[in-house]
Amino acid sequence: MLDERIFTFNKYMNKVFGKRVSRISFDTGITCPWNKCVFCRHDSFVPENSIVVFNEGWKKQYEKTKDFLEKRYSTNLFAAYFQNGTSTFGSLNLLFKIFREALSLEGIVALIISTRPDHLGKEKIEMIVEAASGKTEEVWIELGLQSIQDESLRWLKRGHDADSYFKALDRIKKYGNGVIKVAPHIILGIPGETVDDMVETVVESVNHPVVKGVKFHHLQIHKGTELESLYFKEKFKLLDEESYFSIIGRIISLIPEDIVISRLFTTSPGNYLVAPKWNKNLQYMLEKLDDWLIKNNIVQGKGRI
Ligand code: SF4
Repeated sequence: MLDERIFTFNKYMNKVFGKRVSRISFDTGITCPWNKCVFCRHDSFVPENSIVVFNEGWKKQYEKTKDFLEKRYSTNLFAAYFQNGTSTFGSLNLLFKIFREALSLEGIVALIISTRPDHLGKEKIEMIVEAASGKTEEVWIELGLQSIQDESLRWLKRGHDADSYFKALDRIKKYGNGVIKVAPHIILGIPGETVDDMVETVVESVNHPVVKGVKFHHLQIHKGTELESLYFKEKFKLLDEESYFSIIGRIISLIPEDIVISRLFTTSPGNYLVAPKWNKNLQYMLEKLDDWLIKNNIVQGKGRI
């Protein structure tokens, strides 16, 4: 059981609510204002059945998804997960309405918003706090960082540097009223980065009082992205399963025990995937990683391996 070695999102939510909290994907319906990251294929990380709030029939769609998940996971608690693009982009009033409305749905007990550091100013932070007020204390921002190496951020065409991530954390601390918890998105396996560079990104990025979680992705090449062209042109090396397990194992051993690890590797539809093709199905990979951690005696936060 991974939960015995890692502080997973399920374990955390069980601790807070006494049962599983399943994520339901929501969408503000507003597209990403940046749209230039070389790895990004918008539809590869947004489930087809995302609920676009205020689209016709969205409440019925929510009820259907909720009923399905209730049966599948035996829980009636859900997190409204705004995963699509830059979910804090848009007018304050509209976003407030969207988040508040989602939090008013039966069964929704948490709010998760995915965004970029440069779209999280004082007003947006205060709006999120206000939208959640009286509804939930589980407000998470998944903050796209990917790496603290500025050269990597330039190569990925992220359009921000590492400092803008740390400044966003400081703003959340100042204006977030102690309500917002942050989990940075980190990509492992960016060409040119050493294992020490990746470890440095993780250790530094979780070392802030508002950071309570972290989410990992391994670099994947998706069809139709700029990264696909770069990959065929430059033929850079991608991580294979064994290298990834060794890197993530070292990282897990160094992450403080109270930091929630929300994701361990990328899962994306096979029809988008160009390389590396090592992720078969999620359950298989989780079990394989669990075996690997047991074999190598790794427990989150228990020191260097
Ligand atoms: S900011 Fe996010 S949604 Fe926008 S291009 Fe980059 S990865 Fe894609």
